[in-house]
Amino acid sequence: MPSRQHLLRLVLLLGFAALIAATSLLAFRLSLALGLSELQVTGRHRLDLYASSLEREIDKYAYFSTTLGLERDVLQLLAAPRPERTAQVNQYLEQLNERAGTLSIYVLDRQGRVVASSNWRRPDSFLGEDLSFRPYFRQALETGSGRIFGIGTTRGEPGYYLASALGNGQGTLGVAVVKVGLQQLEKSWATVEAPTLVADENGVVILASVPDWKFTTLQPLDAATRSAFDRSQQYNRRALDPLGVVELETLDHGARLVRLPRLGPELVSVFPVTGKFLAQTQPLPGTPWNITVFSQQEQVRGVAVTRAALAGVGAAFLCILALMLNERRRHLKDRLAAREALQQAHDELERKVAERTADLSAANGQLQAEVAERTRAERTLRAAQDELVQAGKLAVIGQLATGIAHELNQPLAALRTLSGNARKFLARGDQATTDGNLARIAELVDRMGRLTGQLKSFARKSSGRPQSVPLRRAIDNALFLLEQRFRRAGIVACLNLPQEELHAWCDANRLEQVLVNLAGNALDAMEGQPAPALDISARRQGDRVLVQVRDRGPGLSDAVRPHLFEPFFTTKEAGSGLGLGLAISAGIVADFGGSLTGDNHAQGGAIFTLDLPAAPEPHNE
Ligand code: ADP
Repeated sequence: MPSRQHLLRLVLLLGFAALIAATSLLAFRLSLALGLSELQVTGRHRLDLYASSLEREIDKYAYFSTTLGLERDVLQLLAAPRPERTAQVNQYLEQLNERAGTLSIYVLDRQGRVVASSNWRRPDSFLGEDLSFRPYFRQALETGSGRIFGIGTTRGEPGYYLASALGNGQGTLGVAVVKVGLQQLEKSWATVEAPTLVADENGVVILASVPDWKFTTLQPLDAATRSAFDRSQQYNRRALDPLGVVELETLDHGARLVRLPRLGPELVSVFPVTGKFLAQTQPLPGTPWNITVFSQQEQVRGVAVTRAALAGVGAAFLCILALMLNERRRHLKDRLAAREALQQAHDELERKVAERTADLSAANGQLQAEVAERTRAERTLRAAQDELVQAGKLAVIGQLATGIAHELNQPLAALRTLSGNARKFLARGDQATTDGNLARIAELVDRMGRLTGQLKSFARKSSGRPQSVPLRRAIDNALFLLEQRFRRAGIVACLNLPQEELHAWCDANRLEQVLVNLAGNALDAMEGQPAPALDISARRQGDRVLVQVRDRGPGLSDAVRPHLFEPFFTTKEAGSGLGLGLAISAGIVADFGGSLTGDNHAQGGAIFTLDLPAAPEPHNE
């Protein structure tokens, strides 16, 4: 299927082709019309020229026959024919004929008999012949003169018969006839540039610049005319074939466009005699004849064709110009459209970008709000967590309180005894024992100070920011806080730490809190157990530090294990446990990127594993 554009283009091309063809045709027609009208003017000039020169020629001979009427001898012969007069006139006519170059000159009496003739010497002379049947004779008798083209009956020679009635005052005596040869008349056409013919009243061509045209007819003869000719022997039984001029078109002023047939050679002298011609005809004055001049059209046609071609080329050029202009206009339009489309796309893009930016900034705002909200929530949570940690810690301290009070009471009592004893020994003058007592007092005060210091440090709110924490010290501190409970339970914690110092990446205070919790739970679990023991081991595993607290208690029952780290889960009686210890511990450890798990040891008892990130080297503690 051709596209719409292709179809349009085809129609346009066809239109242009039609335009070019129409322009060429118009130019051809106009040029031809112009050329033909010019040709008509030239033709008419030629016609006038040829006609007048022929007329002059004919008139010259016509004069002879008339002047014969002035010859006395001739008139006498006609009036009273006698042989010597005949001989005399014969000679006269012979001389006259020779001088004039005519074919023959003869005189007929009233009956049409030849009484004297220029050709009296020749054997075929028509002297004495009856030529009354010849039309010129009758014409001359009737009108005074007769002009007839005809072909001689004796020699078959074509010629123009110019007859004049001769007479005196009494009437017509006879007729003088001059027969002029056609060559004589055609002499005047020696220089014709265009084929010319003269047709007589019967349409028979009697004179022609083209020899082959002679004795042809312009119109075909009907049978009646032909038999009339036979009777008068005007054309002496010539075939009288039609010339075969084909009329193509009739123009103004009697001009016609015709096609001339080819009868003989194409050229006569140098002028073509076949093809398309402009025919112009006019009567020849003083005769019943018509003269026709054929002006060649070929040149006019050639010029018209050239002009048509030029006009076609011009039209084609204009079409191409129009096409180019149209193409340029379309190109500009396309460019404009493309620019517009580009602008639109650009605008659209900008609009979308603006839209997205707005969306984005809205989303961003929302996100920021959410982040702020979350930060706030986290902060609140963190604060709550910190509070919880602190609460857990205080709970531990609460649990420790009895032990600590006992721990402080003992040295206080000892202080009291020692100081009392010191005074007594001082009064006795036992300085050495006094000194020993005072030293012991100082020791006890130091120990009490250490305990309260430790408690204070445990109770303080720590930042929770991770740093390198020496594991051994954290374990020692935790055990120190529980020392009283260990002593009461009769347990000595068994430490199993590697030689090298282990450092965990966490907060010392919180790690101690976790350890106090784990150790405290172990002590709780082992209460009343036959062979209580606590093992605390630590080792490094890659970039982690693992701390394990194992007791010899009953272990973790299936009912307890799933809820071990749930807040407020406890199996202890009211007042001794809140159920927060492991939950807080697990939270603390998770904060430092570690984990806390509880399990049963294969040899009995529970084992809690603390997995913490190792502090990066070197340890700047
Ligand atoms: P609390 O000590 O206040 O009960 P915890 O969270 O520390 O709260 O402990 C929760 C529970 O886990 C305890 O009540 C106990 O049943 C169990 N548990 C903790 N540690 C041990 C352990 N070493 N052996 C056996 N059970 C334990």
